[in-house]
Amino acid sequence: MDGTGSVCIIGSGPTGLYAADEIRRLAPGVTVDVIDRLPTPYGLVRGGVAPDHQKTKSVVRQFEPLFTAHGVRFIGNVSVGEDVELAELRRLYDAVVIAVGAAGDRKLGVPGEDLPGVYGSAGFVGWYNGHPDYAAMKPRIPGPRVAVVGNGNVALDVARILALTPGEMAATDLARPAADAIAATPLTDIYLLGRRGPLEAQFTSAELREMGELAAACPVVHAGDLPDAVPDDTDPREARRLKRNLEILRGFADRPPPPPGEDRVRIHFLFRHAPRAILGNARDGVTALLVERTQVAGGSVRATGATTSLAVGTVVTCIGYRATPFRGLPLDEERGVIANAEGVVEPGLYVAGWARHGPRGVITANRASARDAAAMAVEHLAAHGENRPGGPALEALLASRGYRTVAFADWQRIDDAERAAAAEGRPREKFIRVADMLAVIEAADATASCAAGGTTVAAASPSV
Ligand code: NAP
Repeated sequence: MDGTGSVCIIGSGPTGLYAADEIRRLAPGVTVDVIDRLPTPYGLVRGGVAPDHQKTKSVVRQFEPLFTAHGVRFIGNVSVGEDVELAELRRLYDAVVIAVGAAGDRKLGVPGEDLPGVYGSAGFVGWYNGHPDYAAMKPRIPGPRVAVVGNGNVALDVARILALTPGEMAATDLARPAADAIAATPLTDIYLLGRRGPLEAQFTSAELREMGELAAACPVVHAGDLPDAVPDDTDPREARRLKRNLEILRGFADRPPPPPGEDRVRIHFLFRHAPRAILGNARDGVTALLVERTQVAGGSVRATGATTSLAVGTVVTCIGYRATPFRGLPLDEERGVIANAEGVVEPGLYVAGWARHGPRGVITANRASARDAAAMAVEHLAAHGENRPGGPALEALLASRGYRTVAFADWQRIDDAERAAAAEGRPREKFIRVADMLAVIEAADATASCAAGGTTVAAASPSV
């Protein structure tokens, strides 16, 4: 189909941009606008991927041409449900694709979860990645011990970031307040808790291996916790990952302890330990995490009644994400996603990525549902498209309400300012507040309009 019409994608993370790319490929005549709540594009690539994983973040280079060469329009700084209603977008565009991810945390459901010093990974990862939603967050990390609950890649990310030295941080885009807070925290022990065993852990091998490559941290694994082999009936692809993981964990277990006097953060892999209660009080915050030894049979967890208390001052739960309520749309509470049937919310309204199927897989794993949503949107346009006005009408509506939207060229100014402000070796110094990002754009606008008169306006730089 080469027809015309307009599609609005809500969310400029990888899923939204895979969908934009696919619509462009399937229907080059259709205009595609990508709305984001923030002035910055790329969703979790900017705000979720670990700041020391710059290679992963470089995926944005693949997406940039959508905006610079292929006519996809970025409309940032627009919050659907606040600045514009979803129903209005439905009237302005022929089809809408929701790709807003899963920004909420699953709950542990144990006593003490609301104590100061307990953080879900959504907030904690957002904080160290400079997400504006968490700019004011000042996590309590008194040290010297922290518990990280979960045996997935996010738990590895959190434990690793907490263990970075200032030298290791120097090559990252870790948000400045987080870098300063972590550098100032004297950690000795990080407990990485899995309620099941090494064969059930969700770690990918490359990420697990990194835990043994840190400058001033060492993994602590008990050989007795490791099974001898991967069961024969394991799916072959999964078996390869598990075998690699077991080799890596055995390597960790075989390591001699660091020599006395060598100050290293010990990252304890506590398999088969389930959190039962977080202890502490409102004044002092978390003082301990009560954990229970478990047994795992056929993949299921069984309680043993044997409990231990870990004296920790901070607990970070990395136990998976849930979609947050999205204005006007029901959530599927059980699955933690926007209610949908194979990506269809209703005719003309589709959902893709983590908001559709829950939080799983690496970045490219979202491509399938993104393509699916794109194909359904294009089919809908072919059958019911009315050539609705899309972007220009939305821009006019938002301008009439006094909102300043952010175009891709505006984001490029923010990007330039962040890169210019970075110390040597650091990829960028992130702005963590929306107002500071907008100030860069305003300064650039003012400079442009004053240029004829010879007046110069100072550009903002990241202030923390
Ligand atoms: P995840 O891989 O699903 O891991 C969640 C972990 O939390 C599991 O170990 C799970 O254990 C545990 N858990 C859940 N409920 C629990 C409870 N009540 N008590 C104790 N433990 C509990 O999720 P994630 O780590 O948030 O990652 C989300 C997705 O992003 C994954 O697909 C991940 O691979 C991806 N990701 C990739 C990278 C990378 O490639 N570098 C980095 C970050 C994230 P059970 O298995 O027992 O339920």
